[in-house]
Order: sequence, then structure tokens, then C-alpha cells
Amino acid sequence: MKLLSVVIPCYNEEENIFDFYNELMKTEEFFKGRDVDFELVFVDDGSKDNTAAKVKELNQKDGRAHLISFSRNFGKEAAMYAGLSHAKGDYVVVMDCDLQDPPAILPDMFKAIEDEGYDSVATRRVNRKGEPPIRSFFARKFYKIINKMSNTEIVDGARDYRLMTRQFVDAILSMEEYNRFSKGIFGWVGFKNKWLEFENVERKKGETKWSFWKLFVYAIDGILAFSTAPLAMASLIGVLFCMVAFIFIIVIIVRQWTVGDPNNMVGWASTACIILFASGVQLFCVGIVGQYLSKAYLEVKKRPLFIVKEEL
Ligand code: UDP
Ligand code: MG
Repeated sequence: MKLLSVVIPCYNEEENIFDFYNELMKTEEFFKGRDVDFELVFVDDGSKDNTAAKVKELNQKDGRAHLISFSRNFGKEAAMYAGLSHAKGDYVVVMDCDLQDPPAILPDMFKAIEDEGYDSVATRRVNRKGEPPIRSFFARKFYKIINKMSNTEIVDGARDYRLMTRQFVDAILSMEEYNRFSKGIFGWVGFKNKWLEFENVERKKGETKWSFWKLFVYAIDGILAFSTAPLAMASLIGVLFCMVAFIFIIVIIVRQWTVGDPNNMVGWASTACIILFASGVQLFCVGIVGQYLSKAYLEVKKRPLFIVKEEL
């Protein structure tokens, strides 16, 4: 008998726990036929509602449902890491609690691993139906930019919904970085990977935890975690400015020598503009360096990714 661990990060999902469980159990028949049993790892990411209580209630009904409860909200990345490190399965799948990752395609994902020999099966949604248009616009731009900047492939529309072999999971767990950006980490570890596509499913109950601002910060974190291109860009801007300055100097000297310069005292406005612009660019570049420094600072501290309050 093989074990399939289902890792479910939950933050304020009390309404969804049982719906999710019922939906997932519709695939149980298939997995029984394949001699595979479930293990459910619910990670309560410091929910403010009754998520933990609901999972305990579920545990009474079905002992295969486990609970890891955080002391506060540590974010989905930390919740996934906690779930993956607690999962004992030969196969592990990460799924959202809100049914936006349809359990119905889980059997197909499993077949790709067991029958076709893949190490992981990831999913991407082919459209962004039901999403605000500006959000889709910036999401597309983000994927364009990060793929130009980073050697790791980061796929547009990729979800964290992914079925993995034990070997793949161990590779993920060996990346202990503090600034976790899963979309990059999954790509970075390599292995043979298959993509399954599905139509976007809208969230039925509860609400999304991602505001536009949170997504923006997440996008910047992703770029910082998987690319050093902004640092190179800062150096490049520096070189460019030096070159422009050099040309200016030559022009001024030559003009002084040939025609003389009657306007020597008048150019203060343009001078002020140049100084302002140049110092703006300098601060911007120092800011880029600062961003990397702050990430390095957090890594060096080696703080735990999460703190467990309760385990069941
Ligand atoms: N989630 C979490 N911690 C957080 C935010 C979200 O564990 O700080 C979980 C959430 O409960 C859900 C999944 O991550 O199961 C995806 O979150 P959400 O549905 O809000 O994101 P979206 O689907 O809108 O991208
Ligand atoms: Mg969702």
C-alpha cells in the first residue's frame, strides 16, 4: 500500500474544510483501485476563524486528517513548507483549500507520474476568467519580466497545485531559504515535469487573501529571489551616466576653447535638473542594493520559517 499525502495550506477557510474534504473523497475510489491511501495534512496558517476547530472535527470523522496549527500567520509559502516537511507519503500533492485546485484532475496527475514516469505534475490555468482585468495585465507583465531576468523558468498561470514524488519533495525541502518563492523553487530543482492545464475555477466561499499590493510585493520578492539582474542593471546605469558626463565635459571644454562661452553663468536651471535627476538615479540604485541586502540580512538571521502552536 502506497501513501499519498495531501498538503492543504489554510488561512481563514472554516467554510471550505468540509467541502474540500468531500470533493477530495470523490477521487478515493480511483486511488483505492491503485492501492494508494490518503493522508491529509491541513496547515492552519494562524487563522482568525474556526479553521483549526473544523479540522479537529474532521479528524474525529476521519483519522487520516492531520492538523498543524501555526502560532500566527506566516504566509502560504511557510505553510506549504511545513506541510511538505510533515508529509510522510510516497507522493505528495499541494492543494488550495478553496477548491480552486479541482481535486477531479488528481487521478490524471497521478497517472502521469505512475504510468508515464514523470517526477512531478504541475498545473496551470489557461485563462484568468473572473479576475479583475488590471490584475491580469500586471500578472502577465510580471511573468514576462521575471522570465527575461531569471534563468529559472517561471510559468505564467502556474498554480502551486502540484503532485510530486518523494524524491522531488526531498529536493524542495533541501532548499531551506527564508525568502521562499515556490514558483521559482519548483522550477529550480529540475526533474521531469509535466504540465496539465485547466480552466480557471472561481472561489466559491470565503475570500481571496491577496490584495493587489500583496501581489505586487510578492512579485518583487520573486524577482529578488530568482534573479540578480537588477544589480547588474544598477551598475549599467552607473556606467551609462559616467559616459554621458564624459561627453558633456568634452563638449564644454571644446566649446570654451573654440567660441568661448558667453552663457557661462546662466545654465543653473539645467544644472539643477541634472543634479536632481542624477541623484534620483543614484538613490534608486542604492535602493536596489538595499533590497538584496535586506533579503540577505533575513537569510543570515536563520529564523525558523514557522512556529507550530499545536499538532494533531
Ligand atoms: N493561504 C495561506 N496563508 C496565507 C494566505 C493564503 O495558507 O497567508 C492559503 C489559503 O487558505 C488558500 C491558499 O493559500 O488555501 C490560496 O489562497 P487564496 O485562495 O487566497 O489565493 P488565490 O487563489 O486567490 O490566489
Ligand atoms: Mg484561491
